[in-house]
Amino acid sequence: MQPIWKTTENYTSGRDGTAIDRIVIHYIVGTLAAADATFANSSSGVSAHYGIGEGSLHQYVSELNTAWHAGNFPMNQRSIGIEHSASPDRAPSESTYEISIDLCTQLCKDYGLDPQTQIIPHNSVVATACPGTVNLQRIRDAVEARL
Ligand SMILES: [Zn+2]
Repeated sequence: MQPIWKTTENYTSGRDGTAIDRIVIHYIVGTLAAADATFANSSSGVSAHYGIGEGSLHQYVSELNTAWHAGNFPMNQRSIGIEHSASPDRAPSESTYEISIDLCTQLCKDYGLDPQTQIIPHNSVVATACPGTVNLQRIRDAVEARL
């Protein structure tokens, strides 16, 4: 699925020469529209490369640039951040999983990543409830099966 570009000013140009070796998985605690609104607000100070939900894939930041998603700048420089429409009481939809697995498969091919060790949950970077109801192991296993 080709992403639809959405606006954000919340990123750093380039990656200061850092290679991409992680994909960081997030949940929005809301819909994709909520992520669009948060990232479009320059005072929020947050962004991600991609957001998935309600049958759509949005891109906010080029993979060439550093998005502000992990709460840790060195991790931001080395990673691609993907947001998923979900909440504590609402798991991601089947459509959201399908789009995520497609995207993560392509990214693992593009950057030579091992899905079992290089697709990581936000809560492995900093203390947070994120990615909440996202079943990360399902994504890892489906990507591994496709590589
Ligand atoms: Zn997160």
